[in-house]
Amino acid sequence: MNANLLILDGNQVAAKIKEQLEARISRLATKGVVPCLATILVGDDPASTTYVRMKGNACKRLGIKSIRIDLPAETSTDQLIATIKQLNEDSEVHGILLQHPVPHHIDERAAFDSISIDKDVDGVSTQSFAQNAFGFAAFPSCTPAAIMAILEYYKLPVSGKHAVVIGRSPILGKPVSAMLLNKDATVTTCHSKTTELERFVRSADIVIAAVGKPNFVQGDWIKPGAVILDAGYNPGNIGDVDYEACLPYASAITPVPAGVGPVTIATLLKHTVDSAEKKQGI
Ligand code: NAP
Repeated sequence: MNANLLILDGNQVAAKIKEQLEARISRLATKGVVPCLATILVGDDPASTTYVRMKGNACKRLGIKSIRIDLPAETSTDQLIATIKQLNEDSEVHGILLQHPVPHHIDERAAFDSISIDKDVDGVSTQSFAQNAFGFAAFPSCTPAAIMAILEYYKLPVSGKHAVVIGRSPILGKPVSAMLLNKDATVTTCHSKTTELERFVRSADIVIAAVGKPNFVQGDWIKPGAVILDAGYNPGNIGDVDYEACLPYASAITPVPAGVGPVTIATLLKHTVDSAEKKQGI
């Protein structure tokens, strides 16, 4: 193992974000405002159910109100959008999160895009995505924002670095590519049709794994000294990076769990508080 290896501790970064929120939540309370996040879960996918419960618990621990809406798996796109529109109109709700993925028969993009931009604290709408690409989103997508927060917390340089992002989903790979580009990295975004993926990864100063395949990134793909952020979260708490195999090569790496995941949740809470403050004109 590299003697100077830095383990990027997501719990530490998340704790710092949450600590900064406490005073802001108390200040809102003096104005009679409790930040409120509404979470919609369609169907009963076990992993999604767990994520929604974790987010609800994280809200409670910090004094953020959390409303959970469970809809049956057979909910139609129109019914889901009607629910979202009610939450858009509800003046007590500051943030709306539609848990991804929704059942296949639902038009997820249409549902995401029906979330009011002011309440899109998970940064999933087309409008938030576009704002993020320009670098001024109020609420960038939470996992990409968490990745950037970890880089910033540990003061890891991004400008001028070659960042290779593996994955191009609209909630992760694409927005984090844009964020890295906006921080002056040279970005290569890889996907399932990329040929010679390993060649790109071998030239990366920063590797972002957002593939959804357990232990996908191999140790011998890693340039010595590279920084690795693993957004993957596969069944059994397994990341997209073969962690043990990458340790000898990396200069810094996020573990799974306790890496990107807790910072993603803390970012969601922060966005909900941001939204509540914005509504109060703070
Ligand atoms: P996704 O929508 O399934 O996207 C996966 C991406 O990986 C796609 O762009 C796909 O390419 C690409 N890909 C698949 N196989 C590949 C291969 N062999 N070589 C190169 N690229 C390949 O997944 P996602 O929602 O972005 O999530 C990715 C991972 O992050 C998952 O493990 C998920 O659980 C995790 N995640 C974690 C958090 C967190 O808070 N930590 C939040 C969200 C997601 P194509 O576009 O060509 O299909």
